[in-house]
Amino acid sequence: MKNPRGRVILSAVKALRKRVGYINEIMKGKCFTMAYQITDECISCGACEGTCPSEAIAEGDGKYVIEPDKCIDCGACAGGCPVDAIVAG
Ligand code: SF4
Ligand code: SF4
Repeated sequence: MKNPRGRVILSAVKALRKRVGYINEIMKGKCFTMAYQITDECISCGACEGTCPSEAIAEGDGKYVIEPDKCIDCGACAGGCPVDAIVAG
């Protein structure tokens, strides 16, 4: 590119696009919200698994667990737990 001003603008646009990419990654990682969590009170009844629209709940080692990357913080699972083991993060 012969025009130096054009080169500067192009590199500024590239830098901006990179930053927008970072922001998207941060949002995907839910840095601004906290996923729901399942405490040790869980009795592994499995009732919560089917209530999650994001399929974020699965049976873990000794209790059910919520995958934070999948949880959209809708709260649908919390009300159905018989031992109140699901809490907002
Ligand atoms: S509904 Fe409550 S007790 Fe049952 S598996 Fe889910 S978290 Fe555990
Ligand atoms: S809060 Fe919603 S998305 Fe998160 S685990 Fe519970 S039901 Fe699934």
